[in-house]
Amino acid sequence: MSSWLRRIASSYDMHSYELLEHGLGQRELSDPELDLDPPRDLLEELAKRTGLDQHRVIAMTMAGWVPWLVDSLSPAPGAYETYVHQLSVLLPPKRRNIYAPQKWVPWLSVTGARRGCPDCLASSPAILLFWQLPLMASCLVHGRRLETYEGHPPDFSLWATPAHDQRPLPESLSLMDRRTWQAITTGFVDLPRYPVHASIWFRLLRTILDELTTAQGRYGRQLDDVRRVWEHCGHPFRAGLYSWQPFETLHWPVQQQLLEAAAAAMELIEAGALTALGTSAYLLRPEPDPRISDGTPRGPLTATAQEKRTLDELWKQATDALEVCIAAAKVNPVVAQPLYDFARYGCRSEESVRSLRQTFAELQIPLDFLSQTENQ
Ligand SMILES: [Zn+2]
Repeated sequence: MSSWLRRIASSYDMHSYELLEHGLGQRELSDPELDLDPPRDLLEELAKRTGLDQHRVIAMTMAGWVPWLVDSLSPAPGAYETYVHQLSVLLPPKRRNIYAPQKWVPWLSVTGARRGCPDCLASSPAILLFWQLPLMASCLVHGRRLETYEGHPPDFSLWATPAHDQRPLPESLSLMDRRTWQAITTGFVDLPRYPVHASIWFRLLRTILDELTTAQGRYGRQLDDVRRVWEHCGHPFRAGLYSWQPFETLHWPVQQQLLEAAAAAMELIEAGALTALGTSAYLLRPEPDPRISDGTPRGPLTATAQEKRTLDELWKQATDALEVCIAAAKVNPVVAQPLYDFARYGCRSEESVRSLRQTFAELQIPLDFLSQTENQ
């Protein structure tokens, strides 16, 4: 909105504050005010004068993205838990429920960095609302990183990205940004399992960012998984953070590292290379092969046919099958009981049985689905 008004004003040889005051009967409004939640009568007036649909006008502000991208623009109690803790991907649910900032709105960066694509801005002075949010790190048109600048294009801009932040764009980050862009422009994202609504995608992404920075002590058996994610993207563990902070308060170089780690985590989950015990991780995995064998071997069971399956493929098949089983066990006692019986084979002490039941509870498989004998 601030960029659009600046361009309209400049076509009349005016500054945008002059246009606001003398042309639209408003007081002077700052760029953040214009981009966040400007007065509704201004939006109505702009729609009327420009002949644009009101929805298109309001979509140039954050207010136009409630409730898809944010539940509300005013910080409400419990907002963090509702937005970030409802889903889980890398860690079992509820593992992260220790931190929740007060007065928090998702994606609203408090550092106020200005970002843009130098190639886009070389041909047009239009600044996108979504460039200003720490939600995407690249321009899809030019396949390059967004960079920080100072000043107001086109009159004045100074590219201020340090050289070490101009590293090549990893393919996983580019894919994640394509999905975010699809969410913004179409309202849906094609995930490996099935398309999800944009609001699910934004919360899924914010959940992974939270999981990647949660206190090390909360990782439990998933510590190795999380370490592998950070190694895979080549940044220090937990982006080098010593104490927990919400993503929105971090500086852009750290936020970029976290976005890269989230993209790496998604890539590893999609490839079946991470355990990812969260309840929403299945969305990132491809649909398991629905064909059910009647027991007849598909081909001659020769040694050669067996050797063709790599360990990775077999492991992926096993984790896919487990995923389907867990999903079914959550709603069906007939599946929950044999799954429990199978997992219980390895339990040799009361302690390990208790821990197994704890795992079932964390996976949201109702414990009263399990046999009464066991409960006694
Ligand atoms: Zn561009």
